[in-house]
Amino acid sequence: MSDHDADSESPANPSVRRVSDWDAGSLHELATDHETPLYVQDLDRVRENCERLRDAFPNADVRYAVKAHTGRAVLEAVRDAGLDAECASAGEVDRALAAGFGGDRLHYTAVNPPARDLDYVVGVAEAEPEVTITVGAVDTLDRLAERGYDGRVCVRVNPGVGAGHHEKVRTGGAAKFGIPYDRAAAATRDAAERFEVVGIHAHAGSGIDSEQLDSHRELVARLGDLARTLAEPAGNETSAIDIEYVDIGGGFGVPYEEDEPPLDLPAVADATREAVAPLPDGVDLAIEPGRYVVADAGVLLTRVNTVKPTPGERVVGVDAGMTDLLRPAMYDAYHPIRNLGGAAGTANPDAREATPVTVAGPICETGDTFCNDRALADPARGDLLAIGVTGAYGYEMATQYNSRPRPAEVAIDDGAAELVRRRERLADLTTVEREADR
Ligand SMILES: *Cc1c(COP(=O)(O)O)cnc(C)c1O
Repeated sequence: MSDHDADSESPANPSVRRVSDWDAGSLHELATDHETPLYVQDLDRVRENCERLRDAFPNADVRYAVKAHTGRAVLEAVRDAGLDAECASAGEVDRALAAGFGGDRLHYTAVNPPARDLDYVVGVAEAEPEVTITVGAVDTLDRLAERGYDGRVCVRVNPGVGAGHHEKVRTGGAAKFGIPYDRAAAATRDAAERFEVVGIHAHAGSGIDSEQLDSHRELVARLGDLARTLAEPAGNETSAIDIEYVDIGGGFGVPYEEDEPPLDLPAVADATREAVAPLPDGVDLAIEPGRYVVADAGVLLTRVNTVKPTPGERVVGVDAGMTDLLRPAMYDAYHPIRNLGGAAGTANPDAREATPVTVAGPICETGDTFCNDRALADPARGDLLAIGVTGAYGYEMATQYNSRPRPAEVAIDDGAAELVRRRERLADLTTVEREADR
């Protein structure tokens, strides 16, 4: 199961942390101290991921897409590492502000934005005029203008190419996102008459890997073309538009499967720079990684409570479910699972036979399954399992479905663990309900 990569990379900051790399003893301790299900997020690893991104893209603005993990501890670590915050809602803007991102480091991307989100962000921009609002429809520009906003705007373009690990997250080609490419130049020039247009943007979707480098290159090249078009005056009345940056979005993939090679980030960076070139003078590259910053910095710990042999398969019941980690149910996502052992009277998991199992949660849904027919060190009731690569879109997508309180989260900072989100209690499930007359 241990599957370390023999890449030419710095041993101090490897390009991936596998579930097998986590220290079993420490995880057992955390599970004992805080119970399960428990998210563990290693801020030291978050910092390493930030550093590799900055090294690969030394001259780019790096903006963390906070929706991957919006916990306060993570936001503060990313802020300290010098990344900006890319926010997808008023709530995310609010949390980024609270975590100390100033307006000059805040980017809000409005996709069919609810009125109250626009009201909120326009209000923020009054106090923090350096905030940038990224807009993907002329309607949204009109709605900003109606609110008296004339500040910094970035135009989101739909380049018509998309990459991604699942069709639900492949956004580049989806009409929902961005202004169609063939109208983008005109829409940007129109926008410049009402706002300070500072950038153009496209996000191709999540999960760029080495095989999808071609569509990434194509998207980036189209943005480069658009930047050059805008730098030329259009006709005698319209002047050139001086943008500050070309933002190519996020989507940098991480290896979920144990034997999947990590993304060759320097190669992606080279391909990006090459495809976008030559950028007009004074125009920088910007990237918006979410998953890449936090995914392999997190594991979800869960305890085995049921082992059920059936004619077809061996079902291993655990205390975490799709409400804690939605990605397998929602995207058919693969997450590695490691048996850390610990059941009374059982052998060290390394000494147990690899046994094909289905690992399933407590929710009344067939989709509430973390794996099927997967070989794990034969699980026993009481064992602790670590579900790997859950730092991105893990806690973030957790719900209270089935009236399940959301799990607790521990952050590791400079090697020391601290509870950063308490486990929800049953009472938390009803805090927003009208009080019953009892
Ligand atoms: C979700 C999102 C990202 C980040 O995507 P990742 O796959 O997590 O890197 C970046 N930009 C925008 C606009 C997004 O919506």
